[in-house]
Amino acid sequence: MVIATERRRFPVLDPADGSVIDSLESAGPDDAIAAVDAAAEAAEDWASRAPRERAEILRRAFELMTERNEDIARLIVREMGKPLAEARGEASYAAEFLRWFSEEAVRANGDFAVAPAGTNRMLVTHAPIGIALLITPWNFPAAMATRKIGPALAAGCTVVLKPAEETPLTALAIAGLLTEAGVPEGVVNVVCTDDPAPVAEAVLSDPRVRKLSFTGSTGVGRRLLELCAPQVISASMELGGNSPFLVLQDADIDVAVAGAMAAKMRNGGEACTAANRFLVHDSVAESFTSRLTAAMSAVRVGNGFDRTAQLGPLINAAARDKVERLVADAIERGARVRTGAQRIPGPGYFYAPTVLDRVQPGSQILSEEVFGPVAPIMTFSDEDEAIALANETEYGLVAFVFSRDLRRAMAIGEEIETGMVGLNRGVVSDPAAPFGGTKQSGIGREGGHHGLLEFLEPKYFAFD
Ligand code: NAD
Repeated sequence: MVIATERRRFPVLDPADGSVIDSLESAGPDDAIAAVDAAAEAAEDWASRAPRERAEILRRAFELMTERNEDIARLIVREMGKPLAEARGEASYAAEFLRWFSEEAVRANGDFAVAPAGTNRMLVTHAPIGIALLITPWNFPAAMATRKIGPALAAGCTVVLKPAEETPLTALAIAGLLTEAGVPEGVVNVVCTDDPAPVAEAVLSDPRVRKLSFTGSTGVGRRLLELCAPQVISASMELGGNSPFLVLQDADIDVAVAGAMAAKMRNGGEACTAANRFLVHDSVAESFTSRLTAAMSAVRVGNGFDRTAQLGPLINAAARDKVERLVADAIERGARVRTGAQRIPGPGYFYAPTVLDRVQPGSQILSEEVFGPVAPIMTFSDEDEAIALANETEYGLVAFVFSRDLRRAMAIGEEIETGMVGLNRGVVSDPAAPFGGTKQSGIGREGGHHGLLEFLEPKYFAFD
């Protein structure tokens, strides 16, 4: 069910040139409650379906999404701007969450035990947690939606999905595809709005709602946690990051540069996992920096539909202004520009791939997510110093460690306060693995078996 009554419309823009590609009616709190009504109506039937039946519907959705890869990818390029090859990759990655959770739907296993005192027996079952509000960001408009819808539906929950206002079209396409795959009316309800605060307030004040799964910035996450408090709603939070990327003295520099390009430039740097601080051992700093500068300078920037483009525009003017501000501040405090550090003239929100070295402590870019194609480099001389620098942030989503000695890299990864570690690898995301952060990067995990558990409530039976 897609909710939007007669309302003010809001535009969906193409970030490559700022043109309006579509407009949608903006849902308000009443529409959001109508979506909760629909989810409540469908809840009992969906929860009581055989797990295998839910699994097969999700499997059909995976197959449909795989068949429609090109259509979904083109929609992603239009409203989000990433190059078509990356958008195809996202559409496949998004479909994989539906496949993984179609397989997990039949594994909501419980536990049985004799009580330690021998007095009785204990049985633990898992039930769907209830109606879930899913709020997703614009940077991976397809994958962030299926990473939540997949486990929610597998667990037997019905949902209200509120996509980011920048990228609602991809979410609507996915909802259509789920209906075609056999998801019953009312199980997935999409609420599109450009005024999300009152919608979230209305839904999270409704006692029928038992779960919030949010991906977005830490600031908005904090506010939503407050809204969850009155009804004691369970919250899974995938928030911001400030990922350190460590290059040790014994790293293979070619591998480190390839990893850096993946960790920095995947999604144009607009990823919560994006390397935000490069910490490089003194002895290899120039070799790493000059090779990374060469690789960054060679990146071709352009409209995502241009076959040669490897980097698209930033999502909007505010995002580009933020990148400019952080780069200007770093330079003012003493950073050296190795390449880039400028916006690209013309329509759209393009920014040149940028490498800064000699970034000074206290620079804002070290504490804020740059969310763009900018690599700030600092050096270190001993590994304890590198670990301390890596941990000098309130975030803890992912860290990258490059060394020829896997045991040493692993030991450092264990010291870094983070939910995920890439060892000689610039990408960590996989539908089969528990994705998520520590500290202010979030609560809970998405993907793997953990992702399913976020939407299940254990129930313990005691009997003789
Ligand atoms: P954002 O927090 O501004 O928006 C995210 C979502 O929250 C959008 O749907 C938006 O409409 C909604 N929202 C905004 N204000 C709201 C409010 N007051 N009440 C309810 N909903 C509200 O973030 P963004 O700019 O869209 O996305 C970028 C952020 O997301 C970055 O910080 C990034 O690190 C994070 N992110 C995290 C992960 C992860 O898995 N940890 C993945 C992708 C993005």
